[in-house]
Amino acid sequence: MNKEQNNTETRPAPVSREALEKRIGEIYNDAVSWRRHLHRNPELSFREFETTRWIVEKLEAWGYEVHRPCETGCVAVLKGGRSEDNGAEKTIALRADIDALPIREEGEAKSEFLSENDGVAHCCGHDLHTANLLGTALLLSEQKNALSGNVILIFQAGEEVLPGGGRLLAETGILEELGVSEIYGLHTDPRHEPGRVAVKKGPMMASPYEFTVEIRGKGGHAAAPHQAADPIVIAAQVIMQLQTIVSRYTDPADAAVVTVSRIKAGTARNIIPETVVLEGTIRTFSEQQTKDIFRRIESICDHAAASAGGSAECELITGYPPVINHPETTEKFMNMAGDVLVPLEKPVMAGEDFSFYQKQIPGTFFFLGSGSDEADSRHSWHHPRYNVDERCLKTGMRVMASLVLQLDPEA
Ligand SMILES: [Zn+2]
Ligand SMILES: [Zn+2]
Repeated sequence: MNKEQNNTETRPAPVSREALEKRIGEIYNDAVSWRRHLHRNPELSFREFETTRWIVEKLEAWGYEVHRPCETGCVAVLKGGRSEDNGAEKTIALRADIDALPIREEGEAKSEFLSENDGVAHCCGHDLHTANLLGTALLLSEQKNALSGNVILIFQAGEEVLPGGGRLLAETGILEELGVSEIYGLHTDPRHEPGRVAVKKGPMMASPYEFTVEIRGKGGHAAAPHQAADPIVIAAQVIMQLQTIVSRYTDPADAAVVTVSRIKAGTARNIIPETVVLEGTIRTFSEQQTKDIFRRIESICDHAAASAGGSAECELITGYPPVINHPETTEKFMNMAGDVLVPLEKPVMAGEDFSFYQKQIPGTFFFLGSGSDEADSRHSWHHPRYNVDERCLKTGMRVMASLVLQLDPEA
């Protein structure tokens, strides 16, 4: 028996694209039912206790070794049957986020699986991400013996809330501990059809930071404004002047956003309040630019408040780094995706804490098309009617599994 024949006997052949496709067809209905179970039982960021328990139970049944480095969420390890062949084999990580949002959801399209946790809903598609990664977990566990490297599956808590579950998990050092060499993550995207994936090299999503401004004036009777220092009028000036930061002080070639998204002030129509609190977000692609913008916010607030006899205190809340897709992993992803790929020309200004992993290892984040005329699935992320066309699970599982199994369209 020559060496080649020996190899054929002891090493299972890697799965073919056709075999993978067939198996995806068989488990698709299960993946849909997992997504609907998660949708019915959403939990807020960092409180995903039942969600985690439910995920861990499945992973352990499929032979994964499960780690719990953070209070919620988990990291599952599948040791490839051919891992000993070559110490240089890659350890690939795939990541899904598992948290829901504080939204009271709406929508007839979801009537069979509406949230049973009042005021909490999966309106960002993380239920789909989790079900998709579970389906991928099942597919990969069945190919364990053919895998030449290890697979790490990250079910991450708290993507929606600063400081970000991705940051907390990355800071535990678990990626290094498990020897992860590349990482991939996805987000559903209502702008693209199911069956498509969209990606770009380099900057893909912005860095979201938050700010709070407390404007202090002098309260009094609404009928005697001359005896008060009205913080509401100061706030009105501040809000309008903040609009000049991007239009007048930012290089037009650099994308940036400053949005005031919350105003808290006042108790009654006949009272001038003591304070107004403004909250908002800054989006850029560099930490330096974010800091420059924040300094401009401070300057505008100080001057506007001082000129009206008040004062202002500004706080910058550290957010996520920008999602910057590594050229090598993104090239690999693009080659693997083949003709289902939609190359993106522009980044989006939404943020993602997947970026904390990319600060440690090469990685690619991509969008999974989930919007169509079916299932009322074209609403934007965080809309109460947000829903996905579940057929995107087939593409999601195929792409994620293929990245690990190293299947390209020609294979
Ligand atoms: Zn979201
Ligand atoms: Zn999301």
